[in-house]
Amino acid sequence: MNLTCQYQCLETFYWGFSVKNSIRYNAGMHFSTLFFDLDATLYPASSGLWEQIRLRIFRYMREEVGIPEELIPETRDKYWKTYGTTLEGLRIHHQTDPDHYLKYVHDISMMDYLEPDPELQKLLTSLPQELWIFTNADHRHAKNVLNTLGIADCFSGIVDLIAMDFQVKPRPDSYQTALKMAGESDPAHCVLFDDLIQNLLPAKKMGFTTSLVGEIGKTDGVDYYLDSIHDIQNMMPQLWSGK
Ligand SMILES: [Mg+2]
Repeated sequence: MNLTCQYQCLETFYWGFSVKNSIRYNAGMHFSTLFFDLDATLYPASSGLWEQIRLRIFRYMREEVGIPEELIPETRDKYWKTYGTTLEGLRIHHQTDPDHYLKYVHDISMMDYLEPDPELQKLLTSLPQELWIFTNADHRHAKNVLNTLGIADCFSGIVDLIAMDFQVKPRPDSYQTALKMAGESDPAHCVLFDDLIQNLLPAKKMGFTTSLVGEIGKTDGVDYYLDSIHDIQNMMPQLWSGK
């Protein structure tokens, strides 16, 4: 499958989401597209969901791949830092099947960790820009999270690790894929929200406006800091005023 066809197919596939925001942007606005990371960005890390995913990744490495227990934390750390995801390291070094891995590590009851967030739904719905999910997880997990939070209809589409052909954040290609899928040519018209500073720094270099979300406090090198995604209106009111 050539690249153009791949994108067209993906676009068709992901376009199951309603395109609520597509006609609200006007040419006078500075920002036209907002990209949101998913895990620990649209819900707090303290929910326990991400920790549960981490435990299932460890279990997969032990029970399905056969990595000795004592080597798992350092192996996972090495893969995550080297390749952007544990999966990419497992694919390269252990020929792990991505679909099998992704189903296994995300086989979690979302309702045990997340609940509908009508306040966030209201905030996101009121934004005039196009909103996209930009996640290193896969689209099934993303849809589960978004449906549980009650915010799936707020987004025009999902850029996931399959769409990125496993060239995930913070690899430079990932940002180009996100821009292309969202139909954006100029990063200066885009904001990226993410809980990881390493995902924001390359975006900032490319011209994105960057917003670090989460409870880890301020770090040099980004434009905005949000303790919670709910602070978006207080910290970035210009998103609503068109400046
Ligand atoms: Mg995250």
